[in-house]
Amino acid sequence: MFHTKIYLDNAATTKVSDRVLNAMLPYLKEAYGNPSSIYTIGREASIAVTNARTKCAELLGAKPSEIYFTSGGSEGDNWAIRTIAAQGAAKGKKHIISSAFEHHAVLHTLQDLEKQGFEVTYLPVHENGIVRVEELKAAIRPDTALVTIMYANNEIGTIQPIAEIGAVCRENKIIFHTDAVQAVPHLHIDVVKENIDMLSLSGHKLHAPKGVGLLYCRRGIKLTPLIFGGAQERGLRAGTENVAGIVALAEAMTAAAETMDEANERHKKYAKKIYDTVMKLSRVHFNGDLEHRIPGTVNFSFEGVEGESLLLQLDLKGIAASSGSACTSGSLDPSHVLLALGLVHEVAHGSLRISMSEYTTEEEIDELCSVLPGIIEKLRSMSPLWERITKEEKK
Ligand SMILES: *Cc1c(COP(=O)(O)O)cnc(C)c1O
Repeated sequence: MFHTKIYLDNAATTKVSDRVLNAMLPYLKEAYGNPSSIYTIGREASIAVTNARTKCAELLGAKPSEIYFTSGGSEGDNWAIRTIAAQGAAKGKKHIISSAFEHHAVLHTLQDLEKQGFEVTYLPVHENGIVRVEELKAAIRPDTALVTIMYANNEIGTIQPIAEIGAVCRENKIIFHTDAVQAVPHLHIDVVKENIDMLSLSGHKLHAPKGVGLLYCRRGIKLTPLIFGGAQERGLRAGTENVAGIVALAEAMTAAAETMDEANERHKKYAKKIYDTVMKLSRVHFNGDLEHRIPGTVNFSFEGVEGESLLLQLDLKGIAASSGSACTSGSLDPSHVLLALGLVHEVAHGSLRISMSEYTTEEEIDELCSVLPGIIEKLRSMSPLWERITKEEKK
């Protein structure tokens, strides 16, 4: 059953690393106490949560009191956006600025707020997948309460000018939240230097288990209580802490900070190999920006190819990757990210995202590069769409 040999979908989720597993196991098997209990294994659990909070804060340039553990990226995004929306509305500020290619955890929250009378400006991300600070400035209104723009995009890996955006927001006294789920595994972040007021991240995108994450919330911003019922997370998110998950998150963030520089260097080299292989084919598009990017996330569109078929062909070779076409998520709409770049539906449908982790090897990339051109050729040879495209070319 577990036949995937080569896992290149690390932007979707990652494996739990041995280092992280070893760090969390004692809190499942031995120090399994409730952190609120006063006997030894309870206190041990409580100390572990405190230490993890300190570590996570340190890695982000924040204070421990500014860290709130959550169930993951979606929860952090929802919590941050809803908090600031409610506070803004109370002051008559019901305008929010975001981008056109946010994760659905942000987009769907904003759409829900629009139904409640909020107005949202979605900044364009242009052909290269990067928002323009000038356009942000122009979108600011007296009633703007929040700017929420992701740090790095999950489908194409482009990095946004976060520090500049943060500075503009600070100048205009607007709260700035960023979904940094895809950035934290690969980039060193300093919330103070970058003027970030709120930041969400997720454990399972950086080798911790699914179901744990955190929200950084700058001191002075009051989060709206999310879950009632206990004093956990400063009384704002009740419920016995996910101790092992929290320990895992801190260990995973520590490990990432230690290894990301070297991993990024390797990823650049691997991405170049893939790029060179793919760009030799006709009618292909590289999606995103060649420079301002997470080196290990690359995205291409192949004209005359159907994304889902491409994924299935790769799967037959034991390779797991992802497609821009959202057939994978059960809908027929092409990816809103690729459409935001200006791709037409047909082209956006034939997309492939490769996302690496620090465990990705050169052999794996070589294997991908050796099978990919053949798969594209085979799929095109069976595609009526490709036939039409090439006929038009001959005319
Ligand atoms: C995965 C992801 C999320 C959601 O995180 P979960 O922990 O799965 O809820 C949010 N934003 C981005 C950019 C992501 O890649």
